[in-house]
Amino acid sequence: MSRHTLVNEFMNRVETHSPNQTEFHQAVRHVAQDVITIEKAHSGYTAAKVLDRLAEPDRVIGFRVVWQDDAGETQVNRGWRVQYSDAIGPYKGGLRFHPTVSPSILKFLGFEQVFKNALTGLPLGGGKGGADFDPTGRSDAEIMRFCHAFMCQLAPFIGPDRDVPAGDINVGTREIGWLFAAYKAHALEFTGALTGKGASFGGSQIRTEATGYGLIYFVQAMLAEQGADLAGKRVAISGKGNVATHAAEKAVEAGAHVITLSDTSGTLVAEDGIDAATIAWVRARKQAGEDISHPPEDTKARYVAGAMPWEQDVDIALPCATQNELDKDMAKALVDQGTQIVAEGANMPLTSDAIDIIANGGLLHAPGKAANAGGVAVSGLEMSQNSHRRYATAEEVDADLKQIMKRIHARAADEGRSGNRIDYSKGANIAAFRTVADAIAAMGAI
Ligand code: GLU
Repeated sequence: MSRHTLVNEFMNRVETHSPNQTEFHQAVRHVAQDVITIEKAHSGYTAAKVLDRLAEPDRVIGFRVVWQDDAGETQVNRGWRVQYSDAIGPYKGGLRFHPTVSPSILKFLGFEQVFKNALTGLPLGGGKGGADFDPTGRSDAEIMRFCHAFMCQLAPFIGPDRDVPAGDINVGTREIGWLFAAYKAHALEFTGALTGKGASFGGSQIRTEATGYGLIYFVQAMLAEQGADLAGKRVAISGKGNVATHAAEKAVEAGAHVITLSDTSGTLVAEDGIDAATIAWVRARKQAGEDISHPPEDTKARYVAGAMPWEQDVDIALPCATQNELDKDMAKALVDQGTQIVAEGANMPLTSDAIDIIANGGLLHAPGKAANAGGVAVSGLEMSQNSHRRYATAEEVDADLKQIMKRIHARAADEGRSGNRIDYSKGANIAAFRTVADAIAAMGAI
């Protein structure tokens, strides 16, 4: 049977079992295309039906979150935790608070997390959670009450050896502090059941920076493979959050020109590169819940309403905002401009059409599960620090992060090399699949 037929048969089963979950189908199809023949060629994987098992999370926990807003009105939201796979370690993955959060989104993110976490080389299973709560326009007190109410429901299901959530979109160090306090009150124990904590209560150095910094370390490894480096390269970045601003900061430090950052309404553009002070301004505006449409007068950056970062002439594109943010027209624009590398800071930021166009256009494409794994990798280091109760310095964590990103690059490159081309997406999927499949196959039919 051809690979195409195998994938279609498999996807028919997935789509029947999980109807209407389009983002989930998209994520599973991408992996299945790359690994289905690996499964078929390995009798242990075939007998264990690894792919069919991985197309179903271990469990999806859903709950109601009730809280009171500042006006004293009762509010009702929906929360979930997808405990996707604990084959190689406790469930691990972030919590996202956003109106778009749904079981489909969390299942796709949990599925991706299983592979991403396996690539780090650390003993981390995969999970994801969150709520359809929109913090935009909410007061600090309202967000705190929501975090406490959310954790009140989630706490019975997590723990340092069971499931260790962290942050994701709209869940940063501040929210993790509130969530951790509620967890601790429930468990009557001070344990590292969440990562991304503040440094004064068990957080790791560099955790906040890790996803963005790790993305740049990954791109540096891709460039080193070609005997090149970041100095003088023109880089477009989308997003204005934690990943985007820390990637921008590290890229500027390495001598690149960061031409853009963006939000949902437009793009901040500086033809000669956004400077460090403007990146810090963007971060502060985001943290304060304010827009970036009026940059300070003394910066060369201007805000272009309605524009996308991918309209700029750049060598490297780093989508760091959210899923499916870069579609086929934008992918065509990148190919036409001669962009060489697309590396994903966000999870699944390219539509399926965009991925095909980028690949056919000869660009190198680093998938999020490899390129943005730095965040969860430092979360893994935070778990170790919590367990042995000794804390590493920022320099030590940064050195570990660099090593981990280099190792992930090497694994993805080794599995994805064919002649002098590297298919990073395929390489990452195969490397991660082997790790998880070995564990699943070894455990029997359970
Ligand atoms: N939300 C991040 C991710 O997408 C980090 C997860 C974690 O640290 O557990 O990988």
